[in-house]
Amino acid sequence: DHPDQKFVYDFTEGNKDLKDLLGGKGANLAEMTNLGLPVPPGFTITTEACRVYLDSGEEPAALRDEVSAHLGALERHMGKKLGQTDDPLLVSVRSGAKFSMPGMMDTVLNIGLSDDSVAGLARQAGDERFAWDSYRRLIQMFGKTVLGIDGDLFEEALEEAKTAKKVAVDTDLDAADLQKLVKQFKKIVKNHAGRDFPQDAREQMDLAVTAVFDSWNGDRAKLYRRQERIPGDLGTAVNICSMVFGNLGPDSGTGVAFTRDPASGQQGVYGDYLQNAQGEDVVAGIRNTVPLAELEKIDKASYDQLMQIMETLENHYRDLCDIEFTIERGRLWMLQTRVGKRTAGAAFRIATQLVDQGLIDEAEALQRVTGAQLAQLMFPRFDEEAEVELLGRGIAASPGAAVGKAVFDSYTAIKWSRSGEKVILIRRETNPDDLDGMIAAEGILTSRGGKTSHAAVVARGMGKTCVCGAEELEVDTKRRRLTVGATVVEEGDVVSIDGSTGKVYLGEVPVVPPPVVEYFEGRMHAGADDADELVAAVHRIMAYADRVRRLRVRANADNAEDALRARRFGAQGIGLCRTEHMFLGERREMVEKLILADTDAERTAALDQLLPLQRQDFIELFEAMDGLPVTVRLLDPPLHEFLPDITELSVRVALAESREDHNENDLRLLQAVHRLHEQNPMLGLRGVRLGLVIPGLFGMQVRAIAEAAAARKDAKGDPRAEIMIPLVGTVQELEIVRDEAERVIAEVEAATGARLKLALGTMIELPRAALTAGQIAEAAEFFSFGTNDLTQTVWGFSRDDVEASFFTAYLEKGIFGVSPFETIDKDGVGALVRSAVAAGRATRPDLKLGVCGEHGGDPESVHFFHEVGLDYVSCSPFRIPVARLEAGRAAA
Ligand code: PEP
Ligand code: MG
Repeated sequence: DHPDQKFVYDFTEGNKDLKDLLGGKGANLAEMTNLGLPVPPGFTITTEACRVYLDSGEEPAALRDEVSAHLGALERHMGKKLGQTDDPLLVSVRSGAKFSMPGMMDTVLNIGLSDDSVAGLARQAGDERFAWDSYRRLIQMFGKTVLGIDGDLFEEALEEAKTAKKVAVDTDLDAADLQKLVKQFKKIVKNHAGRDFPQDAREQMDLAVTAVFDSWNGDRAKLYRRQERIPGDLGTAVNICSMVFGNLGPDSGTGVAFTRDPASGQQGVYGDYLQNAQGEDVVAGIRNTVPLAELEKIDKASYDQLMQIMETLENHYRDLCDIEFTIERGRLWMLQTRVGKRTAGAAFRIATQLVDQGLIDEAEALQRVTGAQLAQLMFPRFDEEAEVELLGRGIAASPGAAVGKAVFDSYTAIKWSRSGEKVILIRRETNPDDLDGMIAAEGILTSRGGKTSHAAVVARGMGKTCVCGAEELEVDTKRRRLTVGATVVEEGDVVSIDGSTGKVYLGEVPVVPPPVVEYFEGRMHAGADDADELVAAVHRIMAYADRVRRLRVRANADNAEDALRARRFGAQGIGLCRTEHMFLGERREMVEKLILADTDAERTAALDQLLPLQRQDFIELFEAMDGLPVTVRLLDPPLHEFLPDITELSVRVALAESREDHNENDLRLLQAVHRLHEQNPMLGLRGVRLGLVIPGLFGMQVRAIAEAAAARKDAKGDPRAEIMIPLVGTVQELEIVRDEAERVIAEVEAATGARLKLALGTMIELPRAALTAGQIAEAAEFFSFGTNDLTQTVWGFSRDDVEASFFTAYLEKGIFGVSPFETIDKDGVGALVRSAVAAGRATRPDLKLGVCGEHGGDPESVHFFHEVGLDYVSCSPFRIPVARLEAGRAAA
């Protein structure tokens, strides 16, 4: 059924660009092989084979033979056969998807060992202990990941063996102890899997391959994918690699390394090394690793070779790489490399460093950072001046300032965070089972493990604050507490952790704005001193982005203060001034009067009272944005928002009635409230509908805008006001408002002698508006897509309710990976935007097009708006730098 497909690639056949097919690990193993680096020979089963299996429940028919052919070649190359009794070839079977999913899927090492071949391995290695240790590891990993046996059963048996022998570490168990342990492990398998541990090497391998395929749909993997927005149908590749051994004695070992510091971007020697151990020991934090620099003393030749390989890799990948390696009796082997994860700050620094080194150009540098990383750099930090109680210090694993109540298990972290508490998850070390708790927590604190421990790697990936390896802290998860000297932190006590310094504090430490925000605010200048290296990098990247981006970036702001901040942050105008925000507070009563007016005289009086206030608002706004466009949207919200609460008022009136104390005003108010009450206010009397039923309201607003513009001109300013009509569904609505607006503007022009050139446009935020955009453009000089309402009305989702009601269930079921109110739904809402753009421009080629819904500041959505050809995005002031950066990335 798949006759021409090739499902297996030798490492010599692939390359780094085949990640879709070979997964990240397989593609990079191939790349390193072809670079001539020491990679143990092996081959990769493609993601396509996995997809066939996941879709049909059966592995492709051709797979078995193809694997046999590649295994045969591997055996010839190595001069021994898989599981051969006197000298067994052993292999590892590892998952490897296109996107790295650390610790999420399965790995089985030492495949090929059996009751018979273990003796052959011992003889060949000249090391009885090593052979039995390898065998017990195989049964343990195979039992857990392939046969689905609870891993704790093996761990407990191992602990018991150590206790019985009165030793602390597994390396102190000798061959006889390990042989006994193997017996026990096999018993565990028999009892819990209902079958014997398979003695046939090929059967071991085939079962492990299937288990890796299955692990793609394990709960942990699914959760991780949702978090990281990795599509669920990619499948994983499987790498089968000849084993090399780090547990062959003190001249062997295993380690991880980074070509640069993933936390700061600094070049240097970063990593951890563990002597006489296999790979999983490092990740699991079983024994304490030593810093990589110490390898120089342990094995200088391997160290030098590793340094050279790291340089080769960095120059080849032109990026920070992380590496897993093993030394087998003084011989270095590369087991993995990939472009390494890094903190947000390091991403900016590394991108500019690589430009300076001539390895990448500016366009490439823009692809090396993301808006999400920039947003992270804008998070608050701890106040250094604050009085603090230092509890201890660990490794700064993932930056940020997190404050929360101490919890000691994932279950509590989830439970408390669901009830609105902020929590810090404190563990001795984390493992993949802690993932849910890590997601729920504000930050993660561990007492063991280095920069490459599970907690550190996963937290960095999530952008979560993490301090790890804080060794002075005694974490007692059973008693749910943490002790440092005489201090005891109980579950529920507040702690603060600083992922940038590794410091851990008791109590709540206040937070302050970080340097990058100070820079955008204009309070710090790029390139001032060493401490501002990050700011300098951000400054340069922003300059690249601004140079290449086509989209302009405006702000949603409705007062001068926000407008000024937005301007400092790089806003090129205001895309949405929500005038309803100007009618709250003490002005609410004036609006109440307007709504309740029975006569023209009453109404005019109310409008006359509002006019000068509005005019002053606009004068201030136009001044703050002098020389830049300011889109003022006429009043939008449902009217009842300006009236008193219906229940409260009813009670008041009823009480007064019972006392026969009639209050005419309250009675009238209550009638009005009843009259205006709507079951579905979001679909009710809003936007342009208001302007059409309350005579004079829009006219007053237009007059205020025009008079403010005239006043600014008079003061030698450069006002560039644009008037925007909300919630239009048909061009007729717009035409009526337009006629009145033009009349008012002409009056103001006549009265002041100013030429105002006020543009008139509309929001496109109803499906009908999008569908009739060609007609609407006849009466509009610009469109601004209101994607909040457009999403609400296209999906039929109430924007005020759904996030709290069923969205969690939808996200869990994978109906969407992210809320459509956060990232534009390209296929639905986006398709309407796209067609409205085309229809609008067909009618009016110079139609100006923007977006002012929340999506205007969302990275993925910004790329979409670039692609459909909008002129600008508009977003809240704090998101402007992110929008600028993403607009640049979209264009680069
Ligand atoms: C929108 O609907 O996208 C919009 C910007 O308007 P508002 O959020 O004020 O309804
Ligand atoms: Mg709207």
